[in-house]
Amino acid sequence: MSNRVRVTIWNEFVHERLVPQVAAIYPQGIHATIAAALREALGDTVELRTATLDQPEHGLDPATLDATDVLLWWGHAAHDRVDDSVVERVQRRVWEGMGLIALHSAHNSKIFRRLMGTSCMLRWREAGERERLWVVDPSHPIAEGLTSEFFELRHTEMYGEFFDIPPPDEIIFISWFEGGEVFRSGCTFRRGKGKIFYFRPGHETFPIYHDPNVQRVLANGVGWAAPSGAAYFGKGRNIAEPLSPIESSHVVDPSLHKPK
Ligand code: ZN
Repeated sequence: MSNRVRVTIWNEFVHERLVPQVAAIYPQGIHATIAAALREALGDTVELRTATLDQPEHGLDPATLDATDVLLWWGHAAHDRVDDSVVERVQRRVWEGMGLIALHSAHNSKIFRRLMGTSCMLRWREAGERERLWVVDPSHPIAEGLTSEFFELRHTEMYGEFFDIPPPDEIIFISWFEGGEVFRSGCTFRRGKGKIFYFRPGHETFPIYHDPNVQRVLANGVGWAAPSGAAYFGKGRNIAEPLSPIESSHVVDPSLHKPK
């Protein structure tokens, strides 16, 4: 059996087909650019596939999800067109251990909001501002290989706090924007056995996924979010009989309990 990490890159693939400016940056779609970047960074340690909204079951049929170790999710214009049964299936797979990397406006996707249990809303401004992503957890595997204490993206859409998420398990990046706002740009969570990484950059009208630092973070994110740990995952059930006979006594030396 191959121990390659099986990665599915899901993209709603709407803007690239409607907006020439976006098509110019991502002629084959954001998913294809991310796939090429992961192939370049991770080589044959990963098995890559892509899936899009317009495919049957959005390309996320049970067989595909069962064969996915890490799912990347890019969505923006069509969150409400994602079928609830597919969302539920993805959530179940996360509980079972599938990693999920939620990209940019996936903060407002059905699956991310469902897994967080909060509104996940934030403030935004599309003014092409510079973004500086400070590495605030430099020993985290998702920051592996970054060569400086921050990296910058020349033009971005601003996302600002308050970002209505539950307190993350870890915060790896905090962004600063030219307009003065800050944002928790790289956050991790666990739900069930699955690991979740939210990574903010990725607005479609800027070439964010062509940036080497962003590509490095995505590749690291795949490695971090891949299933790990014990094979066991507790499915709730009634244990009518104990696994082994209950110990008859914990007393090793009965004299210990005699009055002195
Ligand atoms: Zn955006």
